[in-house]
Amino acid sequence: MNNNILAKVIQDLNVGIVVVDSSYHVIVWNQFMEKHSNIKREAVTGKELFESFPYLPKDWLDLKLRSVFMLKNFSFTTWKQRPYLFKFYHHRPITGSSEFMYQDCVFLPVLDTETSANYACIVVQDMTDIALYEQKLEELKEINETLQQLSQYDVLTSAFNRRYFETQVEKEFSKSKRHGNDFAVVLLDIDFFKKVNDTYGHPAGDEVLKHVVKIASNMLRTSDVFARYGGEEFIMLLTETKFENAQIVSDRIRQRIEESVAVYKNQEIKVTISLGLSRFRPTLKDYLQLVNEADVALYKSKTEGRNRLSIYKEED
Ligand code: GH3
Ligand code: MG
Ligand code: MG
Repeated sequence: MNNNILAKVIQDLNVGIVVVDSSYHVIVWNQFMEKHSNIKREAVTGKELFESFPYLPKDWLDLKLRSVFMLKNFSFTTWKQRPYLFKFYHHRPITGSSEFMYQDCVFLPVLDTETSANYACIVVQDMTDIALYEQKLEELKEINETLQQLSQYDVLTSAFNRRYFETQVEKEFSKSKRHGNDFAVVLLDIDFFKKVNDTYGHPAGDEVLKHVVKIASNMLRTSDVFARYGGEEFIMLLTETKFENAQIVSDRIRQRIEESVAVYKNQEIKVTISLGLSRFRPTLKDYLQLVNEADVALYKSKTEGRNRLSIYKEED
């Protein structure tokens, strides 16, 4: 091929082409390099590269080019290892990330067969778009994770929400069906809560809800689920728990709430809760049956005087 054509192609390529000799004197500097560095070919050729770009990492380049010159191997670096070699502005309207062009660089050995002189060709590729997309993707992943976490919680009390309880109890149910381990579902309702709102106001009632969540959550294991089921009603999933222990922990929560006080604007508010417990049996069809049974037991606690725990029994 005609050398002129080749030179023209190199000039017009949309990647940076720099050729240096073994003492870093510039031989080739194409248009891409001119455009982004704002330094004309005539101004750099024949000069040592570091004279025009004193910020270049000399030790690092020495290391990269050593294998190019001595072993005739090619070598490369990606924007992930080193964001850029040449400090070029990328002029993209994006805030919060680097203002410099991300670059992948390849270092190639070039031998002039006529003179036997060795050169190194540095190919500079603009990777900014890819780098920015990748960063955006990472940001989106993080946002997605946060959203997913937020969607598990009740906004007012920070307890888990009903949907999260449902996904967890469904898992626990099928696990127990397969392996036969015990677990329990407990419904929990604040007694005479309407009176709390009527006496102290709705914001005070909100504070009581948070108070109940705080006490109960602190008494459970991380593998348990304490969720707001709706209004002033909560539901607990006690995973891999023997019936006796489920009963003990439920009644302890009842006691602790009875003994505690919620504080709202210097007013001390005392509440009690009623609970209904149902235990897993392999004969059950689905978890909804368990929740219904817990509701039956809760109703029993309410009618028998409140501030108590009732256990669902088949004959109920
Ligand atoms: P019981 O002992 O039979 O459970 O009586 P109760 O008054 O607790 O039950 P009821 O179902 O009659 O009243 C529940 C009240 O809870 C009514 C509702 O206004 C109130 N409530 C529901 N959600 C919230 C909330 O997010 N904040 C506040 N402050 N009140 C709520
Ligand atoms: Mg109530
Ligand atoms: Mg209720």
